[in-house]
Amino acid sequence: MTAAFFDIDTQFDFLLPAGALYVPGAERVIPVVAELNRYAAAHGIPLVSTVDAHAENDVEFREWPPHCVAGTLGDRKPPETLVGQAVVEKQHIDVFRSPELCEWSRRLMTESCVVYGVATEFCVRAAALGLLKAGKPVILVTDAIQAISPDGAERTFQEVTALGGRLLTAREVLDGRFTPKDPSDPR
Ligand SMILES: [Zn+2]
Repeated sequence: MTAAFFDIDTQFDFLLPAGALYVPGAERVIPVVAELNRYAAAHGIPLVSTVDAHAENDVEFREWPPHCVAGTLGDRKPPETLVGQAVVEKQHIDVFRSPELCEWSRRLMTESCVVYGVATEFCVRAAALGLLKAGKPVILVTDAIQAISPDGAERTFQEVTALGGRLLTAREVLDGRFTPKDPSDPR
């Protein structure tokens, strides 16, 4: 059984109240993300962390307040979420606009893609839908993500499950339930 974990945009500008584009409540996911990342590292599971890395005058700032400007404190990830993983920088909400990640995920032979981070209805949604559309089974970790709005979270859950994705808690993931369901398993 193989899996890959995707830690999406867990950067200070999104996670902390003082951040430039704070996702309200997102600080609660930091220890959960840290635990999932440590689990991946300890079990030899490929882990990719995506990060927004914008130029000071990025076109995205016409739509959003400036955030995650490369080299600023807000661009950084909490140190406890860093476990030696690959960090993929991106300039757009949809990480699948990065040819590097598209190619990597195409080559990735994995039975489960475990996705978490911020914000649920933007970058996490784009990553989950991108993986599902590439034919990868996706698991969204419901307590390791944070949405900007409850409606946004609900819509994302519906889209992900409609395409065959599953929703699990971090506890269930850490208990190994991200493996494909065995029909003889009563869980
Ligand atoms: Zn951005």
